[in-house]
Amino acid sequence: MKQQKSLIASSEWLSAAAHEAGHAVVASLRGFPVRSLRLWSENGGVAGMASIDINERTTDPEEINGYLLVSVAGHEAQARWATEREGHRNLFGFRDHGSALDLTRAGCRHDLDLFHQMRRRHPAALTEAAARTHARILLRRHWPRLQRLATRLARAKHLTY
Ligand SMILES: [Zn+2]
Repeated sequence: MKQQKSLIASSEWLSAAAHEAGHAVVASLRGFPVRSLRLWSENGGVAGMASIDINERTTDPEEINGYLLVSVAGHEAQARWATEREGHRNLFGFRDHGSALDLTRAGCRHDLDLFHQMRRRHPAALTEAAARTHARILLRRHWPRLQRLATRLARAKHLTY
């Protein structure tokens, strides 16, 4: 049982690491400097944060869309990670992206709030569906990079650049 528990625990760190790595990979692809990534335990789970230089008050449409992509990229990366990892498939018994998104949604509420705050100020920017599709394409294309970063972050808990 102890073995099983530590397996679940390490998969939680990896899942949170995949989330933060998703923000980081998409941010750097869009030219936003990533300063640091952190993970810590909180309320029996794992919480994380990506410090990224993004000007929230920008009026540049490209930057606004970049901000929106970065906001959804954590959730998208975490869901993709969950569908790809053997451990998660066994624990939760799903494979499709939609149920993986549902399962991981609770931890992403803050990101989605930021997304919608930005979007309310700029109604012509990417819709949530469009931002998710685009983020998913970027993540698929750069998945090996995300995997390497997530694995490093889960081990180190703190990376600075
Ligand atoms: Zn996030």
